[in-house]
Amino acid sequence: SNDYRVVVFGAGGVGKSSLVLRFVKGTFRDAYIPTIEDTYRQVISCNKNVCTLQITDTTGSHQFPAMQRLNITKGHAFMLVFSVTSKQSLEELNHIYREILDTKQNDNDTIPLILVGNKCDEEGQREVTAEYAQEYCSKILKGFGYIETSAKTGHNVHEAFQELLSMDKTRNMSL
Ligand code: GDP
Ligand code: MG
Repeated sequence: SNDYRVVVFGAGGVGKSSLVLRFVKGTFRDAYIPTIEDTYRQVISCNKNVCTLQITDTTGSHQFPAMQRLNITKGHAFMLVFSVTSKQSLEELNHIYREILDTKQNDNDTIPLILVGNKCDEEGQREVTAEYAQEYCSKILKGFGYIETSAKTGHNVHEAFQELLSMDKTRNMSL
């Protein structure tokens, strides 16, 4: 089909839903409303045609394993989100990263995947430096891109999605 599916993974509370809502609707809310699972659709340009960008906002660590596998199987590109205010939230991504590699191991092309350090507006609460995250990316996530965002201020949110889409060399996509 003509759909391009992006799946957003990460621990509860890191700001997955906030990033997606900021990107899709341009809004932000301070309240924490746990997500079941939501998919948002946007029309984008792909190989000079229009296609539908589907963004799946997952529940986080308490996802049913079968649901998680299905999301990985169906996904084309992955956004792995942690909060720069929680080192634990970065470590929790190891597991999902392995799952993605295991599931997609037969694909020859490199998997479009970006590590996103959200809540970069909370400088005073920071537990993960940009340097540490970069290092983590080159060692554990093996060379995937890293970007810091704030769903609260909107900093780099559009850029994170754009960067992820540009990683897929099999199609020419733009927002
Ligand atoms: P999710 O569980 O990963 O979907 O996280 P949510 O998007 O529901 O956000 C969890 C909490 O963090 C909410 O209270 C949000 O308002 C807050 N939050 C999300 N993104 C940011 C951000 O960039 N900066 C700050 N300061 N708070 C954020
Ligand atoms: Mg959520």
